[in-house]
Amino acid sequence: MERTLILLKPDAVQRDLVGEIISRLERKGLKLVGLKLMSLSSELLDEHYSHLVGRSFFPEVKSFMQRTPVVAICVEGYKCVDAVRLLAGVTNSREATPGTIRGEFAMSVQANLIHCSDSLETALVEVPRFFKSEELFEYNDTLQDYVYNSS
Ligand code: GDP
Ligand code: MG
Repeated sequence: MERTLILLKPDAVQRDLVGEIISRLERKGLKLVGLKLMSLSSELLDEHYSHLVGRSFFPEVKSFMQRTPVVAICVEGYKCVDAVRLLAGVTNSREATPGTIRGEFAMSVQANLIHCSDSLETALVEVPRFFKSEELFEYNDTLQDYVYNSS
């Protein structure tokens, strides 16, 4: 089982899309193991978006991500890192496939509603960056047997 980090960005919070997006994660069959609101510090954003530091749009991305608290989510599932990227759609919402979260609800590159880890290696760094171990839960999700039916 993999775990991946998801952030519902300030545009999702402001546009009342938090429930819609969490509902999509649940309906997909993903197991929620961590969930909270949090404000992102400048230092945390420098770390989280280190690949963008130095880009001309980085200050704008940073201030956008600090406009409201974000919803941090950790989900668990078999090969869930790639599955969640597919649910989110590509970075530029205007080019995102209809049916994906960005493709369905967004029109912007920056305000694209959701962050999700881009690989298992990234997820292994990002989950502990946003969640302390005591904020992540292990429990028996009785539907998992039906969701996966062994593979
Ligand atoms: P992601 O993994 O799909 O979220 O995309 P990246 O890791 O490449 O970029 C992180 C976030 O920075 C994106 O989700 C956007 O919110 C923002 N971003 C990326 N590229 C641009 C850009 O060209 N302009 C602006 N304003 N924001 C961008
Ligand atoms: Mg990324």
